[in-house]
Amino acid sequence: MDLIVRRLAFTGIALILCVSPLASRAELSPLAPEPDWSALDAFQETMTREEFVHWINTLFCPDGSFWKFTVINGNEVTLFGDTEHTRLLYRLRLAPDLDSQLPLRATTVSGWKLSKAGTSTTKPLRGLVICLDPGHIGGRWAKMEQRFFQIGSDPPVIEANLNMLAAQHAAKLLETAGATVVWTKRFFEPVTAIRPAGLREEALASLYPSGGPAAVPASFSPELERRVGREEELLFYRNAEIRARAEVVAKLNPDLTLCIHFNADKWSSHPTRAELIPQSRLVAFVHGNYSEEELRCDDEKWDLLYKLLSRTSIPEAEAAESIAKQMEATWNFPPESYSNWAAARRVGASPYVFARNLLANRIYHGPVVFVEGPYMNAQDSYDRIIAGDYEGTRIIGGRTYRSLFAEFGEILARGVTAWAGGSTSTVVKH
Ligand SMILES: [Zn+2]
Repeated sequence: MDLIVRRLAFTGIALILCVSPLASRAELSPLAPEPDWSALDAFQETMTREEFVHWINTLFCPDGSFWKFTVINGNEVTLFGDTEHTRLLYRLRLAPDLDSQLPLRATTVSGWKLSKAGTSTTKPLRGLVICLDPGHIGGRWAKMEQRFFQIGSDPPVIEANLNMLAAQHAAKLLETAGATVVWTKRFFEPVTAIRPAGLREEALASLYPSGGPAAVPASFSPELERRVGREEELLFYRNAEIRARAEVVAKLNPDLTLCIHFNADKWSSHPTRAELIPQSRLVAFVHGNYSEEELRCDDEKWDLLYKLLSRTSIPEAEAAESIAKQMEATWNFPPESYSNWAAARRVGASPYVFARNLLANRIYHGPVVFVEGPYMNAQDSYDRIIAGDYEGTRIIGGRTYRSLFAEFGEILARGVTAWAGGSTSTVVKH
């Protein structure tokens, strides 16, 4: 999924800009609703100050920018919309100590019900609800999403198709192990009912963030019209689509959501075989690592507090590390390094696990692990990808391989099973 994101990061262009049509109004990220601060009241006094500070400093905002928007006084965190502290948003009361910490009310917490699982040796995942989120829309939208490429007369590589194949393999294995598998999407059509043409106002607000309606030109050159059209498309497949899927996740209330993707490194728009990257790298993302720019958006401040106070970070990290272990064992590609990219930060024990503030892992409620498979444009994977899905083994480049998608599904199922306390030997190859 990272082709465009990383290109933008490398060229130093901020990926997500807050939109503030009028200076006096709250800044919001694209298509975000006004946050309902009273919804956080259920979390009052449910976490100690020590724990809260720990999560902010180690996971949610290690660069410290969260604190620029806050004042901590005793056990109360006062959150402001701006770093000048002129716009009060919310006061969060923390518990003085563990003894006085109030329990989380079940209805406020995303569905973390792992205690139901792990009691059966043959069905170790019984009681667990796993949501699969195969990345991107695909189908006739794949080129718009820039998740489509083709080298010469080779079969085209369409990331949404690859993600779906891996998810289908994972689903079979997870269900065999007793899990209930639910989906954000099953087809290559948008989950959102919104279409790009319906996002013109939002596209203009995004292109002219600071000047308000007066900054929008009275007439549009063909070039400007193309830019607006492209912005409408970006808002459609990056924002509206993910927001629609978040609503699905909220209704399904899963114990864990897996966002399933194949990665890519940057390259030209008309790729050739000679341009294939020598080696894939692997990564699993947990949620965190907000930048100051992201935190200027009030909805992102709300999302941060909701995620942190819902206590999804521990299961996220555990599941991500468990899946990463399986990825390393099966594929043995090195981890990403992201050494020159501030948006991703290594967290926890596994070299494969990074924290990143992605829209999906921010607004999907409950624990979310965002898994990136091998690079679609790497020498070690490209031929296996264009070979498609198949039963048994095939010889590719002189070596015998099972389907790459079957392997990905098995990695996910084994990772989830080990995380849930079951034996991965119950995840049989199929
Ligand atoms: Zn992707």
